[in-house]
Formats: sequence, structure tokens, C-alpha cells
Amino acid sequence: MTEPRYSLFPDHDSRTAADHALTERLGVSRRLMPSRDVVPAGPSGEWLRELRNMRFDRPRELAGLTEWVIDGLETGTVQVTHPGYLGLFNPAPTFASECADRIASAFNPQVCVHSHAPAAVEIELHVIREVARRAGMPDGSGGHFTSGGSEANLTAMLCALQAACPAYGDDGVCAFARPPHVYVSEESHLAWLKIAHAGGIGRNAVRLIQTDGRGRMDPDALAETIATDISSGRMPVMIAATAGTTNAGMVDPLTRCGELAREHGMWFHVDAAWGGALIASDTGGALKGIERADSITIDAHKWFATTMGAGMFLTSRPDVAAQAFRVDASYMPRSVAAKDFFVNSIQWSRRFVGLRLFLALAAAGWRGYAGHTERAIRLADRLARRLQRDGWSLANDSPMAVACLVPPEGHEAVRSYVDSVHRDGRFWVSTAVFEGRTVLRACITNGRTSERDVDALVHTLKAVAPSIWSTQAESDLSVSEPHRTDLD
Ligand SMILES: *Cc1c(COP(=O)(O)O)cnc(C)c1O
Repeated sequence: MTEPRYSLFPDHDSRTAADHALTERLGVSRRLMPSRDVVPAGPSGEWLRELRNMRFDRPRELAGLTEWVIDGLETGTVQVTHPGYLGLFNPAPTFASECADRIASAFNPQVCVHSHAPAAVEIELHVIREVARRAGMPDGSGGHFTSGGSEANLTAMLCALQAACPAYGDDGVCAFARPPHVYVSEESHLAWLKIAHAGGIGRNAVRLIQTDGRGRMDPDALAETIATDISSGRMPVMIAATAGTTNAGMVDPLTRCGELAREHGMWFHVDAAWGGALIASDTGGALKGIERADSITIDAHKWFATTMGAGMFLTSRPDVAAQAFRVDASYMPRSVAAKDFFVNSIQWSRRFVGLRLFLALAAAGWRGYAGHTERAIRLADRLARRLQRDGWSLANDSPMAVACLVPPEGHEAVRSYVDSVHRDGRFWVSTAVFEGRTVLRACITNGRTSERDVDALVHTLKAVAPSIWSTQAESDLSVSEPHRTDLD
């Protein structure tokens, strides 16, 4: 018997047919999505057994394999593209960004060197410059796309250390006469601790500044901690303010943080991984002060809703990034160093991820994104107002599309409500800890979530209310969910 053979590089006709079939299959999945549970029960035991038994010892039909994978994803992942997913900031991706992924895959350009893919590099640089301009940064600002917010934040810290001590790049932290420290709020994204470790300054060099009772960095506590650290022989190198905390969408006092950083010769970074999309909207000035930052993190894969794995590092001091990431590799083609990402960033080989935001932004315009963010904010407000009528209270006061809610029965009842919502299956919301207390967190992440969905969630919460006490004992034992939502 001859084994089936699979060609890794099928001919044009069979590939085109398979492409069409896959597109159709994904269309069916998308159409059925809203009628499915947001949190399916799987993956099934059988699916997992099949996976474990797959030893890659014989070829298989690709069509069967893709079907098997789609089945696994349909039944074995939280459906973040479901309109009932009001969760951690994992977006339903824009169609334009999905198109960008296909185009990038087809041409597979190597974006690390300008001379190798000038069209792709110029597109990315253009998007970065326009986003920086929109954020109010000065002319000459630059930056690059990253894998996400964590990489962009790591890049910012490495730049801060480089700017504080030019010998850091060659000699590491030993080059510092005094141990360098960085300053973030207690409500910041705790990847900062890993970042400090990765940059060699250690987790203990991250000062978690207390918040003001409303989820924002307390600037007086910040000033005091910096002063104490200086007098006890430490070296403050960076303030990283959060503009849109992951839990509650709160914005640290950016102007004050920027002034303190200037005063002490520190790098001023703004982590706007999620909330940065508000630059699209002219209303409110929620991000005022962001324009003074030495660097900004904005994720394309959060509120700008590209497919996963796309963040942005923006900086008004691109020369510092060039020093931090300089390298001389004889085998690399060189062109204009400022346009060669591999000597200005952490990554070497690069995927053309910037195309995702380029296509979406060019197609919808800033106005389109303003509509997208404002719509989400209206829906979050609607949810909060409806529940307030039923005796719930709103714990946060965010300019973004997130509501941290406390049920009439109090903070202790949050988990029961969340568990009941998950059991119902049509919605996904999370528990979070805001200012030390458990809240129900609902965040609008999907451009197709509607008023009807929000009203249905309100009804669901009403319907489960009388039953929550009977399930309390059971859910007290449940450890199925992390208490903070640092995971996104
Ligand atoms: C999501 C988030 C991050 C981390 O970004 P990733 O893209 O997950 O790496 C950092 N900071 C804030 C405020 C975030 O919301």
C-alpha cells in the first residue's frame, strides 16, 4: 500500500481550491458564532486524545487537519470574537486587519531591513509617524511595531536605562553607580515586574506607587518615593504612567507625572496599551499630557482591534532607541540605519504586522476609529446605567469602555454573579480587583456588540440574582478564575 503524500507546496489549482474551501468553512464558523456559547465546554477528551496520538509519523490530508483544528478552536477556546464577550481586552479583529494578515503571509516580506522590503517598511514607518502625530508627539518622533504592549514597555525601559547611563548598553547594570529604579502604580500592568527582571534591574527595582482610591497613581506618593529613593542612594530612571489601567480603564495624572520626570531627569513613559485608541476621538481630552512622553505604548491588537500580536512603541527620542539596539552584523544589508528596524528595536526578523493597522486606519480613517471607540463607551455607559437602576453601583469612573460594577448584595456576591453568567453561556464577563475590592468587570471589546446584547446581559444578571445565594457555597470553593485581570 502506498502512503498518501502531501505536498508542502501544492500547485496553483489545488491550492486555490483549498483556499476557497477554507474561506467558506471559516465563514460558516463566523455565522454560527453568535448562536454558540461564549465559553464552550471543550476541547473534548477525544480531541485531546487525537492530539496526543499525533506523532507526525505519517502524512495526513491538510483539509482534514484544518477541519480538526477549527473544531478544536470552536469547542475549546473562549470565543473572544463573540458579541457576548465583554472580557479582557481581546478584540474581535477588524476585517481589514484579517485581510492584512493574508497579504503579509502571501508576500512574507522581511521587514527588519529597509533595503529588503522598502514598501513594507515605509508603510510601517508612516503609520507609526501618523499615530505619534495624532498623539501630539513632536515632529521627528518615530518608533516601531512590536509583538504587543509588553515588548513595547520593555523597549521603553531599555531606552530609559540607556538614556540614564550611556554605558548600560555595553556594561549592563554594573555601569550604574547607584541601583536604577522605575516607578509605576499599583494598578499598572504587572508585566513591569518581568520587564525589570529581563532588563537586569530586578523585580525589586519596580516601585509600585499607591493609588488615590480611584485607581490612579497618587502623584504625592510618587514624589515622596522618588525623593526617599534618591536620598537613600538609588537612581530613579523612569516613570511609567498608565493611561487606561487594565482592570478599570483609569488614567494616571499624566501631566504631573511628566513634570516630576522632567524635574528629576527621568524618562517619561505612558503605557496606553489599551486606552491609546482614544487618540482617535477628539472628545474629552482624556489622554491630556500624553504628548509630553519620551515614549508611548499603544497596542494595535487592543482597542484598534487588529489581529493578535501587534503593538506599537512610539518615541520622541528615536536616537536613544538607535543607541540601545545598535548592532553591526557584517552579513546584513544596510541602507538608511534609521529605517532599519533590526538596529532600532528588540526583534530581528520581523513580520509585516503594521499592515493590519495601516489598512484598517486608511479604510476607516481617524473618524471611523473615533466612532468605534465612542460607540463602545456608550455601550459601557448604558450597561452601567441600567444596572444602577437595579441597585448596582459603579466603582470606577473611566473615560474608556469598561464598567467595574458592584451588585446590590455587595462585593462578596460578585463571584457568584460572574459564575452564573458563565454557566448561562451567552456572555463572558470577569471578576477583577479594583482598589482592593472585587468587582464585576465588563468591557466592550467587540465592534459588533449591540445595545440588544447589553440589555440581554442586564436581564441575565437580573435573572440570576435570586439564585445567587444558593450557589454561593459552591462557588466559594471555585478557583477557576484569577482574581486580577492582568492576563490580557
Ligand atoms: C494589555 C496591556 C499590556 C500588555 O500588553 P500585551 O499586548 O498583552 O503584551 C500592558 N499594559 C496595559 C495597560 C495593558 O492593558
